[in-house]
Amino acid sequence: MQIDSFIIKQLAQNCGFDLCGIAKAKPLSIAKERFENAVANNFHAKKEYLERDIERRFHPALLFDNCKTVIVCGFNYNMRERACEKRESAHRTQNNLEKYKISKYAQIKDYHVFMKEKLERLAQGLKDKYGDFNYKTTVDSSTISEKAWAVQAGVGYYGKNGIIQTSLGSFVFLGVLLIDKDVDKYEEPSNRNCGNCCLCMAACPNRAIIAPYCVDSNRCISTINLNKNETNFSSIAQYGWIVGCDECQEVCPNNKQAPISKEALALQASFFDNQNKILETLTPESFECNFKDTNIYKLKYEGLKIRMEAVENYFQIQQNRFC
Ligand code: SF4
Ligand code: SF4
Repeated sequence: MQIDSFIIKQLAQNCGFDLCGIAKAKPLSIAKERFENAVANNFHAKKEYLERDIERRFHPALLFDNCKTVIVCGFNYNMRERACEKRESAHRTQNNLEKYKISKYAQIKDYHVFMKEKLERLAQGLKDKYGDFNYKTTVDSSTISEKAWAVQAGVGYYGKNGIIQTSLGSFVFLGVLLIDKDVDKYEEPSNRNCGNCCLCMAACPNRAIIAPYCVDSNRCISTINLNKNETNFSSIAQYGWIVGCDECQEVCPNNKQAPISKEALALQASFFDNQNKILETLTPESFECNFKDTNIYKLKYEGLKIRMEAVENYFQIQQNRFC
């Protein structure tokens, strides 16, 4: 029996997803070729896990037996005013709020956990309605290209910064549910694009977007400061980002009118309102208490300190130069 696409979307909404698209499982050869080219040019910053299982990322039946359908769900995590506005207001009140910058995605509880829970609830809801079937959930998994499937399922399109642009902007977490059932109706891939806009390319502080739709991860601040094996952050310290980087998203017109997510607000990390104070006085104990349920916890106390010290050293050197 086929599953009704309308029911899937309704259940996805009930589970707290803001977006849902459905694609037929099949090999995505063009997306795979594009990915292989990026790896061949080392735009993936030599991340070995990205060199493995390339075929599987774009061919879900190799990841999950008898896969028939790929359901891509999105969760809008746009919580507050854009960080650049926050910086402007910090400047006005001279409270130095943004000395250490943390990406929006990390200012919320670990999305791997709650996205997975939502996907499990969606699968269970479908089972309750249609009986037993096999499924697999993935959130930020290295074995499937969630971005390529988001495009295929009509959830969004690639921005020139390589980030998926949806009707709710690009501050969106993606999760995938693979099922061994057919669905009555599949989406067409999105045919939208960025047009003549190049704002993200101009705004990227480290010139990582080397051509439209082509990001050199070796230069991407976010890729560098999220690398758990990296110990030297002097090359990016001047930008102040210690976890991730939102510069190319902050300037994007797609995010200017993006709605604020009430659920994301409820999921915001406990350090959010006192970010600077907590970082300035960070101890192993306060790290444990404030970051345990966030993605930042993966960097460990020592890792976060090294990133902060790099920024601090940079500003000290600048200050000394002008004394
Ligand atoms: S995340 Fe930051 S460094 Fe990376 S492409 Fe965007 S603006 Fe550039
Ligand atoms: S800033 Fe412009 S070019 Fe960049 S992703 Fe947004 S719409 Fe596309």
